[in-house]
Amino acid sequence: MSETVNVTEIFGSDVFSDSVMRERLPKKIYAEMKKTIETGAEMSPATADVVANAMKDWAVERGATHYTHWFQPLTGITAEKHDSFVTAPKNGKTLLEFSGKELIKGEPDASSFPSGGLRATFEARGYTAWDCTSPAFLKEDATGVILCIPTAFCSYTGEALDKKTPLLRSMEALSEQALRILRLFGNTTAAKVTPSVGAEQEYFLIDREKYLQRKDLIYAGRTLFGAPAPKGQELEDHYFGTIRERVGAYMKDLNLELWKLGIPAKTQHNEVAPAQHELAPIYEEANVAVDHNQLVMETMKKVAGRHGMTCLLHEKPFAGVNGSGKHDNWSLISDTGINMLDPGKTPHENIQFLLVLACIMKGIDIHADLLRQSASNVGNDHRLGANEAPPAIISIFLGAQLEDVVKQLVETGEATSSLRGGKLNTGVHSLPVLARDATDRNRTSPFAFTGNKFEFRMVGSSDSIADPNTTLNAIVAEAFCEAADELEAAADFDTAVHDLIKKYMSEHQRIIFNGNGYSELWVEEAARRGLPNIRSMVDATAALTTKKSAALFEKFGIFTRAELESREEVLYEMYDKAMNIEALTMIDMATKQIIPAVISYTTQLASSINQVASACPLADTSVQQELLLEVSALLSDSKLALSALKEKQLAAAALTDKKELAHFYKDEVVPAMADLRRPVDQLEMLVDKRYWPMPSYGDLIFEV
Ligand code: ADP
Ligand code: MG
Repeated sequence: MSETVNVTEIFGSDVFSDSVMRERLPKKIYAEMKKTIETGAEMSPATADVVANAMKDWAVERGATHYTHWFQPLTGITAEKHDSFVTAPKNGKTLLEFSGKELIKGEPDASSFPSGGLRATFEARGYTAWDCTSPAFLKEDATGVILCIPTAFCSYTGEALDKKTPLLRSMEALSEQALRILRLFGNTTAAKVTPSVGAEQEYFLIDREKYLQRKDLIYAGRTLFGAPAPKGQELEDHYFGTIRERVGAYMKDLNLELWKLGIPAKTQHNEVAPAQHELAPIYEEANVAVDHNQLVMETMKKVAGRHGMTCLLHEKPFAGVNGSGKHDNWSLISDTGINMLDPGKTPHENIQFLLVLACIMKGIDIHADLLRQSASNVGNDHRLGANEAPPAIISIFLGAQLEDVVKQLVETGEATSSLRGGKLNTGVHSLPVLARDATDRNRTSPFAFTGNKFEFRMVGSSDSIADPNTTLNAIVAEAFCEAADELEAAADFDTAVHDLIKKYMSEHQRIIFNGNGYSELWVEEAARRGLPNIRSMVDATAALTTKKSAALFEKFGIFTRAELESREEVLYEMYDKAMNIEALTMIDMATKQIIPAVISYTTQLASSINQVASACPLADTSVQQELLLEVSALLSDSKLALSALKEKQLAAAALTDKKELAHFYKDEVVPAMADLRRPVDQLEMLVDKRYWPMPSYGDLIFEV
């Protein structure tokens, strides 16, 4: 019944990939192009012209009419402005052209992208520059076929206005420092070390018709009202459950679209909450993974539309059920194939790995606030620290094996053994005996070692993974740099490295936590250890511009102080705008939909009481009367809370400082929103469903 899919044929068919380049570019040009990709060598204008033309021919053969510089401004999503290949007509005819100049540099009007004061609106110039390390691709939808060229976006004076530029800078810095570490251990062949990233993406799928009946989902991406359904996720019957046909058809279509784009979509399953799912691709080089994650999010939304559904990427679309995140799996792999995070079978003997681990412990401990900041966005405030995966406190989970090695090193200065996994016996003879990992998993840790990579689990589902990876790269580059400075100067390397590992691990062991990250005890314990517990995006943002942060990012040329300050301002501004939208949406829904609906219902109750009493004076109308009393009381609570929220909104409108306003929203408006939600949700449980003006949680997440 279903047509067969030839995945190998489809995979990457919309990508101007290495093999396409090899096939279509003259040998010399191809070699020059490769050199640019691998070493960053400048490309001659003549070569750029040839590459551009080949790209255009390839794209036009596949139906492309336009090209765009595709970039990632500070909004956290992607931007594109299409230009057709059409040239000025001669004798009424046009030729399709695309020059090297157009490939390399673009000049979108930058004035309407957030820049945090880096560029006044009258100095609107901004440039996009071709990032040839990420392949060009075709986007195919109702707009037609568009050739997309991944680019970095910067201001007239060279400051980064996007998420890509700092990421690329951080990758270069990390590669340089990681190579110093490899060299110390005698490696002379590796020429580059690249952070590899695999981002597991969680999402919700709901019916589009129902989505369109909820103003909160439309404007805020999450429900601002909503009583819990009688059933939630308590039966644990959704996680890894059989995928329903409608969702399965969506996943099938989604995979196809992603494969065409060369995105190695690998794993799909139902997640914890009803209507929640996950997709994980195979890991790739960080900058490509960042681009691909953007495309995954965009494609998820687009394909959902074709299936009559809407994909919600918000971190917490529904209160009371699991929210969505993104696990950012991160490791460091050299061009010669060495994964610096691979401990091998006997980590206690793997000195290079132990040094890398010690450096990561140190970096994360020192910059816990920055890492926390890198994963904060407006939606994530509803997850981090709100009794859900993971807590807002940064800690590292190492697992039993590595924790034991670290303990030996810290306590005795020597690690002489590594715990073994052994065999796993199920007690059933017909089942195979499995090798057991030396380490169990821990689902509550924000930064967990999982075999040969770290998994940063704080990132929000709707967020770009650029910032977390930029930050992680920077933190680790700094720790590597400091270690290399010391070790390169040491007279006796073996003793020096041994001492350094012990020193780093001893000084930073407080960052290790293998227990239950959700428990209140950990919050207390973390406070005793002096670990920061930053509960909101607003509080996290200040970490960007501390002396410590500026010193880190400036040292490695990742951000200037001005860039950091601009980003801080953009974040406050984004928070302010998002909260303003949420508050206004609540006011709108309460005023125009909910209160009128409840009034209609009270009228219905009142007329029932009157009509029943006049038809049959002896009949008992106490049920209607009690309900009327209860509903009317909640109705006036709602109206009071609505007025209070409106007042807060007015007060907010008077504040002009973005940071001050953000704090006002967090401390004053957010609680006022909760005060309004409470009586309304209670009303939803009392009012006749026919009167309630929007689909319920049950309708939304159980009836997809
Ligand atoms: P789990 O989270 O259950 O450990 P997997 O092992 O399948 O799941 O990995 C999850 C994600 O981590 C996938 O995107 C995978 O490609 C990625 N991943 C696996 N190995 C590495 C690595 N060495 N570096 C970065 N990402 C990796
Ligand atoms: Mg995972």
